Amino acid sequence: MPSTLRYRIGAEATLELVMGDITHESTDAIVNAANSSLLGGGGVDGAIHRAAGPGLLAECKKIREQRGPLPQGKAVTTAGGHLKARYVIHTVGPIWQGGHVNEPQILESCYCNCLEEAERSACASVSFPSVSTGAFGYPVIPAAQIALRTVVDILHRPKSVRLVRFVLFDQNSFTAYARAAEKLGRDFPHYQIALDSTSS
Ligand code: ADP
Repeated sequence: MPSTLRYRIGAEATLELVMGDITHESTDAIVNAANSSLLGGGGVDGAIHRAAGPGLLAECKKIREQRGPLPQGKAVTTAGGHLKARYVIHTVGPIWQGGHVNEPQILESCYCNCLEEAERSACASVSFPSVSTGAFGYPVIPAAQIALRTVVDILHRPKSVRLVRFVLFDQNSFTAYARAAEKLGRDFPHYQIALDSTSS
């Protein structure tokens, strides 16, 4: 399987699935799978804080002081510090508890609210990690389906965000997202998802 899959979404938008480290992304914004404290943590959160430098934690602390902990499903934007991305959009995914306490709805809100934050900052491109599928334990196959359906639905509307990249850290996640994209195209032909031959 190639390590970048590129899809045209309708006439104007692009979805990319890539294997890699989100801290290297040069999209306008990258999304952080944070926790409610906003004070950093392990996984992708730790990697983003290390790469962005101490200014990121200082800005997160300030937001935390002003607004308290960030609830699950919500999103907030900071500057990108030393990252190539201009902004970091922090969201708090649901902790998987078996699927019966609104985890799917909360995960969907994460993607919607992040793209709303990106719009507010006039971003044309955003990179997402696979929110909640690490320490928070959300099974990656259903998580990938929710992530892609939510993002593709939004990409169909006239928006400033024209490119969304999912930066997957391991082969298993990449395969889950690739299969979810295939299924989404099959189940919802009106989304006009077309695999681009320039995928590499
Ligand atoms: P959560 O607490 O939301 O589950 P994690 O950071 O534990 O967040 O994991 C979310 C996903 O991010 C997992 O698939 C994990 O492998 C992946 N991940 C970890 N580090 C990086 C990174 N540097 N770039 C992209 N994805 C990463």
